[in-house]
Amino acid sequence: MTLDPFEHYFAVLNNEKKPNFIKAELNELLQKTKELLKECCLCMHRCKIDRFSAKGFCNVDLKPRIFGAFLHYGEESILVPSATIFFSGCTMRCVYCQNAPESIFPELGKEYSIKRITDWILEKSLEGCKNVNFVGGEPTPYLYNILQVLALCKKRKIAVPVVWNSNSFYSANIHPILEDIVDLFLLDFRYFNDSCASTLSAVKNYVKAAKANILHADKLAQQCKASLLIRILVLPSHLECCTIPMLKWIAENCKSYAVNLMDQYWPAYKAKEFKGIDRPLSMEEYNKAKAAAEKFGVNLV
Ligand code: SF4
Repeated sequence: MTLDPFEHYFAVLNNEKKPNFIKAELNELLQKTKELLKECCLCMHRCKIDRFSAKGFCNVDLKPRIFGAFLHYGEESILVPSATIFFSGCTMRCVYCQNAPESIFPELGKEYSIKRITDWILEKSLEGCKNVNFVGGEPTPYLYNILQVLALCKKRKIAVPVVWNSNSFYSANIHPILEDIVDLFLLDFRYFNDSCASTLSAVKNYVKAAKANILHADKLAQQCKASLLIRILVLPSHLECCTIPMLKWIAENCKSYAVNLMDQYWPAYKAKEFKGIDRPLSMEEYNKAKAAAEKFGVNLV
C-alpha cells in the first residue's frame, strides 16, 4: 500500500502547517553542521578533511557559489513554479551530466552573499513560487550555507517549503539536520549496481547510500513529516542492471513515495565516450521500464 506521499508538502502549501525550518532550532543545526565540517563527512566520500581550511572530492569551500537561479517551470507539476538554486560543485562526476561543467566545478559558479540569496528567495516568494529548491551540482556540500540562508529567511519571516533536490549520495550523518529543514525530498535514484555507479559517476557504494537515504525520506513521509519524490532517469543499456531491479526494490521497500520515471536522457558532456550511454534512450527501452514499474505496482507520477 502506498500512503499519500505529498500529504506533508500540500499541508504546508495550504498553510495548514508551517515549513519544517520555521520550527527548527537553526543555530543548533548550524553548530552541528560546523562540527561535521571539521572532518567532513557530509557525503559518502567521507573525505574527513577540515572544510574550513581544505577542500575534498567536491572541491567546494564555504562560500556559496551558484551557476543559475530562476523560477523553474520544468519540474514536476506539484513543484512549479519552483525557485530553483543551482549550486556549483558536486559529489558525483556523472559523465552524462546535462549541467556540466558548471555543475561540477565550483569555480565556475558566481559567489553570492547569504543576504543576496535570501533577498532572491523573498523576491520569488512574492512572485508566487511554491518552494525553494536547493539543487546543483549537489546541495550537500553547501549544507552550512543553506542553513545560513534558512536562518535569515526565518528571521525575515519568509516561509516557503524547502525542496532538497539531491543525487542521494549524502551520508546518514546529515539525516538529523535534513529532518528539521526539508519539506520535500526530491531524490535521484541513479544506479542499482555499484560497478555502473563507479564507471559512470566516480562513486563507490552508491547503491547502499541511495537506499538508506530513500528509506529515511520514506519513513519521514510515512510519519507525515516530509514528502518524497524519487526521480529515476532511465539510462540506455542499463535497464537490467539498474532501472528494473531499482523499481522492484522501491515497490518492495517504500510505502509513502512517488516516482518520476524520466525519459529525457541524452548523451551530454562526456557520454559519447562511454559505450551504451552514447545515444539517446529508445522508446522501446522507456516502455519496458514503464511496464516493469506497472508490473511491480510502483506509484508513478
Ligand atoms: S561534501 Fe563530500 S566530497 Fe565534499 S568534502 Fe565533504 S565528504 Fe568530501
